[in-house]
Amino acid sequence: MNTPTIAIVGAGLGGLALARVLHVNGVDSVVYEREPSRDARGQGGMLDIHSGQRALREAGLIDAFFAIARGEGQDMRLLQPDGTLLLQEDTPDDAPLARPEVDRADLRDLLLDSLPEGTVRWGHAFTSAEGGRVRFADGGSAPYDLLVGADGARSRVRPLVTDVRPRHIGQNVVEIGIPDIDATHPDLAAMVGRGTYWVLGDGISLGAQRNGDGRVRIGISFYRTGEDWFATSGIPFDDPPAARARLIELLPGWDPRVTALVAACDDAIVPRSISTLPVGLTWPSRPDVTLLGDAAHLMPPVGEGANMALLDGAALGRALAAHPDDVPTAVAEYEREMFERSSAAARMSTDLQEMLMAPDAAQRMLAFFQPG
Ligand SMILES: Cc1cc2nc3c(=O)[nH]c(=O)nc-3n(C[C@H](O)[C@H](O)[C@H](O)COP(=O)(O)OP(=O)(O)OC[C@H]3O[C@@H](n4cnc5c(N)ncnc54)[C@H](O)[C@@H]3O)c2cc1C
Repeated sequence: MNTPTIAIVGAGLGGLALARVLHVNGVDSVVYEREPSRDARGQGGMLDIHSGQRALREAGLIDAFFAIARGEGQDMRLLQPDGTLLLQEDTPDDAPLARPEVDRADLRDLLLDSLPEGTVRWGHAFTSAEGGRVRFADGGSAPYDLLVGADGARSRVRPLVTDVRPRHIGQNVVEIGIPDIDATHPDLAAMVGRGTYWVLGDGISLGAQRNGDGRVRIGISFYRTGEDWFATSGIPFDDPPAARARLIELLPGWDPRVTALVAACDDAIVPRSISTLPVGLTWPSRPDVTLLGDAAHLMPPVGEGANMALLDGAALGRALAAHPDDVPTAVAEYEREMFERSSAAARMSTDLQEMLMAPDAAQRMLAFFQPG
């Protein structure tokens, strides 16, 4: 039996889950990552992991995952901009870990540490593929029988299977944060609580979330805004005090206790423009190239993407382990399941995104969380 040479581009959650599931099934792979080392870039932020737990179980990592997951991160507070509290959900200590929050860096470390030494080749930025070889920015190359694009939202592998590109969805996010909130702003720490604090207004939302390291990360989303909105928003990103003042100006009539979160943030103020791929995107199966995760199905950021990336990695690993000498069959089997599962998740995410963009977003979300 010939063992295929499997080249995975991208050491994100999806690429690493694939390498791990292949490894537990006795199949080797190599992950090429453009970052120079595992600590080169802050992974930042919490992830809500629910359906993705199936993939971690298949990867033999579910107990280790529960050890790093934060059940209390499931707490939620939902408010209107005038400060009215619409919903407060506190997670009991003995609640099942159905949707715990986990630090993205901890989850990535868990996957990285579960792979044999040398599986991930750092500092390998994929540029192209031809003649059964992948090429890297430093001029190097490596062979493959199967090339897997697990290289995220701006995938360089994607053009090998489809001409479709992500499109802006009228959402621009400013990311800010308050370091060590318990020590620096205990009043705001108590207001935000242990999980997610959400303020939904007409066309603007603010989501604050406590991270494992005591930092509260805050995303302020401006909906129905164009791709060039940051250029016209009047937010001076190179002048943090003025940027904080401008952000507060962009929240007219909001409760001063909420805008106090903006006033308390540090100087890391980051713009993020949101794009997605079309719901239900597919491509004609190729025997030697496929995609997974955001590269395959970039969707609105409402808590499905990382779960789908993990599930994709496990599904492709399972299919390759079942057909080690027939890669085209494995790829076709994986893509059939992935297209169906991820398009259902993308549809659900798009519906949720429309709710968030609606003028009565807070009421709609309340009805969503408390149906009937
Ligand atoms: C603020 C925010 C919050 C989120 N919260 C959640 C959540 O709570 N739950 C959830 O399910 N999802 C969430 N998501 C979505 C989730 O983060 C993504 O869907 C998920 O990380 C996708 O995983 P991936 O492995 O496909 O890609 P990524 O995690 O983006 O990994 C891609 C990897 O490929 C590497 N790479 C890129 N280009 C190249 C190249 N040319 N050569 C080599 N390597 C390359 C990158 O450096 C990176 O390491 C959130 C997203 C954001 C932005």
